[in-house]
Amino acid sequence: MERSIPFNQPCLAGKELEYVRQAVDLGKLAGDGEFARRCAALLEERFQIAKVVLTNSCTAALEMAALLCDLAPGDEVLLPSFTFVSTANAVVRCGATPVFVDIRPDTLNLDESLLESLVSSNTRAIFPVHYAGIGCAMDAIAEFAAQRELIVVEDAAQAVHASWEGRALGSFGHLAAFSFHETKNFICGEGGALAINDSRFFKRAEILRDKGTDRQRFFRGEVDKYTWVDTGSSYTCSELGAAFLYGQLEQMDQISARREAVYQRYRTGLAALEAAGHLKLPLVPENCQTNFHMFYLLLNDQQTRDDLLEYLREQAIHAVFHYVPLHSSPMGRAAGKTPRPLPVTEMVSNQLLRLPLFPDLSTADQHRVIDAVHGFFER
Ligand SMILES: *Cc1c(COP(=O)(O)O)cnc(C)c1O
Repeated sequence: MERSIPFNQPCLAGKELEYVRQAVDLGKLAGDGEFARRCAALLEERFQIAKVVLTNSCTAALEMAALLCDLAPGDEVLLPSFTFVSTANAVVRCGATPVFVDIRPDTLNLDESLLESLVSSNTRAIFPVHYAGIGCAMDAIAEFAAQRELIVVEDAAQAVHASWEGRALGSFGHLAAFSFHETKNFICGEGGALAINDSRFFKRAEILRDKGTDRQRFFRGEVDKYTWVDTGSSYTCSELGAAFLYGQLEQMDQISARREAVYQRYRTGLAALEAAGHLKLPLVPENCQTNFHMFYLLLNDQQTRDDLLEYLREQAIHAVFHYVPLHSSPMGRAAGKTPRPLPVTEMVSNQLLRLPLFPDLSTADQHRVIDAVHGFFER
């Protein structure tokens, strides 16, 4: 059996380990140390975001966002069913109801043309997800939200360093959540960030993130003791994670360029199969600048997708499917609403397959993957 090719492999890109050592030497390893400050400043500047705070995951950032929206039982939030559970879980934890929206067949992102048919007097927010590092139609979504005074929270877990019409994803919504989980583009094991573009949320975000206390004000000398003033949790990122992350963020352009090389080799290597009608490759609209987070194939039916997954597995190539639609999951059925059928979500869930993509994927290994996909259709 040939050596196996993993789906993902975390990489070192620069000074990550040196910075972890420096963090230890600085003697402060809990949240909000020197490296956390540097990461936040870098993200604010690169992406033109008013304020960024690091969190211990994107899940934590989404929970903070839901709390900042003041969601309560009876409130509804419009979000795609084709997403990771954390997008919806944040809403459900507040007792509010996710209302599942179908996705567009071209970008696999929330279909903005359906919002009008799903909005109600209980709708408080929209949580668009930028799938595969390709931006949602942020102009239409922002305009729709503004007309109805809805809060927009971007789930930009997969979209760090991607943009829409030249503007960074994560800078559009009132709030946005990033992930630095090891499967994402820039990593620190487990980590995330909340982007706050609307200054009315600055003060409360600081409190929610620090267990519902005003400890940050105390640290700044604005109060003479700190106390419990709101709800909250422990959402901060450890300084060890922040130090590692800073090593990655400094190399964002280099990491993206390496991912792009892999992405483009897939596109070239598989173009003939698309031309022959065997599958579809990812579509990147002209107004989207992707971060090359993912390379997926859309097969013509579920049987072919499942057979191809199995065929690759037999050759020790780890390809994977994606999301079981949330509206059909046990929790989604119990806690969410699905007012309309979601045919595109169901089709994509059955027919999508993701290929290995990481900066250190060698050309030789990648050719093995490309040849195997061709081999499958030539059987
Ligand atoms: C990865 C991911 C998350 C969760 O990120 P964590 O940092 O692991 O909590 C949330 N939403 C989407 C769309 C994701 O891809």
